[in-house]
Amino acid sequence: MQVTPYVYRHHIDEDVESFGAMHPGGSNIYFVGDPADRMSIVDTGEHYRDWTIGILDYYRKLSAPPTLCILITHGHGDHIGGLDRIQEATGAPVRCHPKLAARLTKMLGPRVVQPVADGETISLGGGASVVALFTPGHEDDHVCYWMASDGVMFTGDTVLGSSTGTVRNLGDYMRSLDLLAGYNPARVLPAHGDLVDDGASRIRSYIAHRKEREQQILAALKKGITDVYQIVDDIYPRDLRRNLREAAARNVRTHLAKLVEEGRVAEKAPAYMLKS
Ligand SMILES: [Zn+2]
Repeated sequence: MQVTPYVYRHHIDEDVESFGAMHPGGSNIYFVGDPADRMSIVDTGEHYRDWTIGILDYYRKLSAPPTLCILITHGHGDHIGGLDRIQEATGAPVRCHPKLAARLTKMLGPRVVQPVADGETISLGGGASVVALFTPGHEDDHVCYWMASDGVMFTGDTVLGSSTGTVRNLGDYMRSLDLLAGYNPARVLPAHGDLVDDGASRIRSYIAHRKEREQQILAALKKGITDVYQIVDDIYPRDLRRNLREAAARNVRTHLAKLVEEGRVAEKAPAYMLKS
C-alpha cells in the first residue's frame, strides 16, 4: 500500500497468540522510490519462508524495479532475517551501521555490504533520498532514516507504532529520541505496528513517559527502597501480571543503569545467600 508519494508499505500481520506478542501490530517492510524507475527496501523481516515470499511477491507487484539498496535499521533477527534471500533476488547492496557491517558481510559475502555514515544522504531511486541518523539505544547499531521530502522518519524499533520498545542503553536512547524530535516528523514509519500520524508528538510523549518513570524511581529511592522488585511494587499497579512484572523489573534496571552511569545513583555489589 502506498503511504506517501515515495513510500510503499508491506505489512505482515502476526499471530497475537504466538510470537506476535513480541510485535504488537505486526511488522512493516518499506519500499521507497518510484516503481516505474528504481526503488530501495527498508528492512527484511524475520527469517521465515512465508515472510520472505510475501515481501518478494510485493516487490513483484511493484513490477520488480531495479533496487538501489537495502537499508537496515539494526541487526536484530526480525529485521535482517530475510536479507540473504531478498539480497539475492534483487542484487542490491546492503547499507547498515558500521558496527553491523562485519556480521552482515559474513552472512552475504564480500562487496555486498556498504556501511552508512552518520548524516549521509542516500539516494533510494526515483528522486527519493533519506539521511541516515545514528540512533543508539534500542541497540548500538541502530540507524533511523529521515526523508525530508515526505516529512517521514523511518524509526525502526526506536519508536514503534503500537507499543513502547525495549531499550539496551537508556541514556543513548533518550539522546536519540531528542535527535528525532528535532526533525519534527509529520509521520513516523515504524518497523512494527501502525504508522504514526503526528510523529513528533509521539516522540515527545515517549520522552515524557521515560522522564516520568525516572522521577518515580528517584522518589522510590528517596523513600529508602533499594530492591528492584520493591521499586516495581512501589511504582507499578499492584495487579501487574507476572510476565509483565519481569518486563517492569527489566525496565527499572535500565533506568537504574542510566542513573548509575550519570553518577546520580550508587550501586552496591550484589549479596548472595543460600536458598531456603
Ligand atoms: Zn524489531
